[in-house]
Amino acid sequence: MLEIEKKKEKKHVCAICGKPSETTICHACEDKIRGEALEKKKEIEKAGITDKGRH
Ligand SMILES: [Zn+2]
Repeated sequence: MLEIEKKKEKKHVCAICGKPSETTICHACEDKIRGEALEKKKEIEKAGITDKGRH
């Protein structure tokens, strides 16, 4: 009986979309995160340049 509970807890799902996935984050979400991170990096770099120009 206890083993059934264990199996339930061990079921892997994507941490982002909650869909069953063998990895913590499924490939679809991984790609999405990567794209968003790149965009954020660009924004930060842009902000940094603007700040420098102000100073
Ligand atoms: Zn996902």
